[in-house]
Amino acid sequence: MKTTPWHILGAGSLGSLWATRLARAGLPVRLILRNPSRLAAYSAKGGLSLSEQGERATFAIPAQTFDAQEPIQRLLVACKAYDAEPAVASVASRLTSGAEILLLQNGLGSQDAVAALVPQARCIFVSSTEGAFRDEDFSVVFAGQGFNWLGDPQQGDPPQWLNELTGAGIPHQWTSEILDRLWRKLALNCAINPLTVLHGCRNGELQAHAEEVRALCDELVRVLQSCGQPQAAIGLQEEVMRVIEATAANYSSMYQDVAQGRRTEISYLLGHLCKAAALSGCDVRLLNRIRTRLIDHLSGKGLPSN
Ligand code: NAP
Repeated sequence: MKTTPWHILGAGSLGSLWATRLARAGLPVRLILRNPSRLAAYSAKGGLSLSEQGERATFAIPAQTFDAQEPIQRLLVACKAYDAEPAVASVASRLTSGAEILLLQNGLGSQDAVAALVPQARCIFVSSTEGAFRDEDFSVVFAGQGFNWLGDPQQGDPPQWLNELTGAGIPHQWTSEILDRLWRKLALNCAINPLTVLHGCRNGELQAHAEEVRALCDELVRVLQSCGQPQAAIGLQEEVMRVIEATAANYSSMYQDVAQGRRTEISYLLGHLCKAAALSGCDVRLLNRIRTRLIDHLSGKGLPSN
C-alpha cells in the first residue's frame, strides 16, 4: 500500500523538527515553502538539517511551493499563528476530500480560522511542549525534549497514522481533551509571558512580582470558568508558580520574540483571552490593562501589536 506523504507547510523551527524526524524514519515528506526564492535558497542548501545532542544530520527532503500540482491528503501546518490561515488558503485547492490538517500553532483562534476556511478537511489540533530553534536557515536545533498532545475538537477516532509518529520517535498522545490542554497552555502563557516583557526579565524574576502574578491568575481562573473551560482553571495559580520556579533561568518565548525584533503571537494569546472574556461578560481589568501596556510596548519598538 502506498504511504501518504506528509506535506509540511512552513520549514521553520517546529516544521523542520517534525519533517526531519519523519524523513529519518523513511516516511515520504514534502516541504511547502513560501515562494520561489525560498525554494531556491533551500535547493542551494541541499536539504534540511537537524542537530540533536550535538549530532547534526541533513535530509534531502523534496520541497515545492504552494502552486505545485500534487494533491495534499495530510498537511502539517507549522507556521506562526498569524500566518496559518493565509498559508492554508494558498494550498486549499490542493486538499483532497477527507484531507487531514494538523495545526501546531500556539494559542487559540488560528485553528478555528483554518477550520472555517477548509470545512471539507478534518482539523487536528496539536499542543506541543517540544522546543526547537533555527541556528541558520533550513537548520534546526532540537533544544528541549517535550511532548505532543493531538486531538480533534469535533471528537472522532484517532487516526491510523499515529503509529508513524511512534516510528519517527515523535512523542505523542491522542486526547479527547485537546481544548482543555490548549486553554491551559494559553492561561499559563498569559500569566507569565506578557509580564516578562513588561518587566524586562527572566521567568524566575517574576517571583519578585508574586502579588501581580496572583491577581492575574485570579482573573484567568474567572475567564476560564466563564467561557466554559473550568477544567483548565483547576490549580492554575499553583502551576504558574511551579513553572516560574522550574524555568527561572529562561526567557519566555514572547520576551525572546520582542528582544529579537520579531512579531509576537499576542492576538492568539492575551488577545484571544481578553476577547473571550468580553464575549462571556467577564470583567478582566488587570488582563486588559496588561494587554494595553503590552501593545504600547510593542508599538514603541516598532513591532506589530496584532
Ligand atoms: P518559525 O521558526 O518562525 O517557523 C515558521 C515558518 O513558517 C517559517 O519557516 C516561515 O517561512 C513559514 N511560513 C510562514 N508563512 C508561510 C507560507 N505562506 N508558506 C510557507 N511557509 C510559511 O516558527 P516556530 O517557532 O516553528 O513556531 C510555529 C508555531 O509553533 C508557533 O505557533 C509557535 O508558537 C509554536 N511552537 C513553537 C515551539 C518552538 O520551540 N519553536 C514550541 C511550541 C510551539 P520563512 O522561513 O520563509 O519565514
